[in-house]
Amino acid sequence: MKLLGATISALSLVGSAYTQTVQNGASADTRGGQGAGQSIKILRSGSQPSREGPAENFSGKVRVDPLFEASAPGRARGSLVTFDPGARTAWHTHPLGQVLIVTAGVGRVQRWGDPVDEIRKGDVVWIPAGQKHWHGAATNSSMSHIAIVEVLDGNSVEWKDKVSDSQYSAAVRAELSTTNANSSQPRPSQRAIGDFAPKLSELTDNVLYADVWERPDLSKRDRSLVTVAALIALNRPDQLRSHLTRARDNGVTQEELIETITHLAFYSGWPNAVTAVGVAKEVFEKK
Ligand code: MN
Repeated sequence: MKLLGATISALSLVGSAYTQTVQNGASADTRGGQGAGQSIKILRSGSQPSREGPAENFSGKVRVDPLFEASAPGRARGSLVTFDPGARTAWHTHPLGQVLIVTAGVGRVQRWGDPVDEIRKGDVVWIPAGQKHWHGAATNSSMSHIAIVEVLDGNSVEWKDKVSDSQYSAAVRAELSTTNANSSQPRPSQRAIGDFAPKLSELTDNVLYADVWERPDLSKRDRSLVTVAALIALNRPDQLRSHLTRARDNGVTQEELIETITHLAFYSGWPNAVTAVGVAKEVFEKK
């Protein structure tokens, strides 16, 4: 009888171990802290439909791709927001602040009462709790950012008035300090050829980049595309290298640049396209 009792308790031990394995710790095991019973969740790319930014809260064309919803006890939620050139949010506040991670292009952000700041791919923007602000694309470039907010009592944003055209067009602080040709920071061509060929350097900085590239009649993105196309067709790998990086900064995607090269194989010749794709591979792998 003793033997049978031991066998039964051994079996029930196996049984309970089995149950725990199957439930993956879904029992009241609190050693792992709150949420220990929940398994990792993977939201597959493309499984959550995009939606348009509603016209009452946004100006211009804005696409919102939801990324994740707050899941208790966590309260952060995130989305990827893509603004067409000139598009922006309305003025608004976030009860617990917001973090923006710029993933493509050039944009703008402003707190009420402060100058407008320019933001670029790779910049991380922290907006304090309760501060009235807006964010959006630059006039001639699209901009995408990942936006992360925390939910307080079910709310993560309070919307206010639209950003008027004159508010949107106010002088940009970053542009004044970092992209002005007279800034103390040397322009790329000054660093590369300034001492050796000062006139060529001056023409490059003050005519090509400060004047022609800044003209509003073509977006920066379009200027990048036509420039890259010309450099591929002319087989100029040295200049193509820096313009591929610039094109990415101006909102042209890696896929679009590879498609451009593929397209140009027919118009500029296969050897040019193969040279260009070698340069592109080098540039994209470095990024
Ligand atoms: Mn915001």
